[in-house]
Amino acid sequence: MPDVHALLSASSSKQWLHCPPSVRLQEGFPNESSVYAAEGTFAHEVCEYKVRKYLHERVKRPQSEEYDTEEIEQITDVYAEFVITIIEQMRQNGCEPLAFVEERVNYSHIAPSGFGTADMLIIGRDENGKGLLHIVDFKAGKGIFVDAGHNSQMMLYALGGLAAYGFLYDIEIVRMSIIQPRLDNISTFECSVKELEDWGESIRPVAKLAYEGKGEQKPGDWCRFCRAKPVCKACADEALALCHEDFLDLDAGAFDTADESDMTAPYEADTQTAVFKQPGLIPISEIAEILPTLNRISSWIEAVFAFVSSEAINHGVPIPGYKVVEGRSKRIFTDTKAVVDVAVQNGYTDLYKQTLITLTEFEKMMGKKKFNELLGQYVAKPPGKLALVPENDPREPVDFTTPSQEFSALSDEE
Ligand code: SF4
Repeated sequence: MPDVHALLSASSSKQWLHCPPSVRLQEGFPNESSVYAAEGTFAHEVCEYKVRKYLHERVKRPQSEEYDTEEIEQITDVYAEFVITIIEQMRQNGCEPLAFVEERVNYSHIAPSGFGTADMLIIGRDENGKGLLHIVDFKAGKGIFVDAGHNSQMMLYALGGLAAYGFLYDIEIVRMSIIQPRLDNISTFECSVKELEDWGESIRPVAKLAYEGKGEQKPGDWCRFCRAKPVCKACADEALALCHEDFLDLDAGAFDTADESDMTAPYEADTQTAVFKQPGLIPISEIAEILPTLNRISSWIEAVFAFVSSEAINHGVPIPGYKVVEGRSKRIFTDTKAVVDVAVQNGYTDLYKQTLITLTEFEKMMGKKKFNELLGQYVAKPPGKLALVPENDPREPVDFTTPSQEFSALSDEE
């Protein structure tokens, strides 16, 4: 997977389309790669390997002591199977598709110097025999659900694909799919070539602004990966504005039905209306309103602390009112072999403890089939830890209805 990024990269397009000056504002800040990014890169390499192998190309499986796990095997299988199905489907539609793996696409006719790498670009025919360009993108992450619907990264890749192959092939339809197996997310968006090109034209002026470092700074969920975030004035303004606004209108609305004089009423959440009865507490409905902003502010605050800590610790930058200190540390053995020798010489035994290898390690050792045969009956998947997530998350909501409630609802209906 190439690690060269355009200034107006497709993957950061949501950011520069909403906040054009961010591209230039973040220029001086290092692009620090995380462990998750390294694992994601490896997963992409395995995806590429599996598809190239299917296409009968000579390829070597990528190696990684650290990241080559059963889970990576499973999620890359989901991607490879999806891509293979598209190719096979196009063959059934009566054409031999062209399949390009890790295809560099150039969309600089829309965004200055814009280019990127599409995980998969396939050209063939759809079920109705129409010329089809299908772009597929693999996402290894499980932090944020990524939807293919009007996804600017995918649409830029598609524009690049059209620019390269549109004049050679009769393409009428563009399909864009995102495969995010860790969130059980396979999402596809389709539009006509005309719709795609119109969108491209509509963003051209914004892309120009972004390239020139102009336009309005605007915070939103696209700030997540902005390297300028810790020192972004717009983010600071937003956080401070929330404290001053009448957003949490403590003098109205919340107390409509409450007895304002009774500040001693016991805590009692009304789960039907999500409103606390006491006038001194904020109703859940109002907290819900500010949750998206709070999430963003909380992530901004984290970024600010991480940034100033790194400046002080790694670069010796003085931060007025603060100092760098050593944290608590634990004692460690400097030479474990010598420790064992000395302990044994002095008659001590039971120096080691044994632990069972993990389920994944068992599976790797035995192979999937043998593992299922011998140990499958002892494997269970307990329910995951409950979490509150935004409504557009693809997972099914937990049903809190108890059997007795269901029964009483049925009785009421009768
Ligand atoms: S952090 Fe600031 S500069 Fe970066 S995208 Fe958000 S608002 Fe724009």
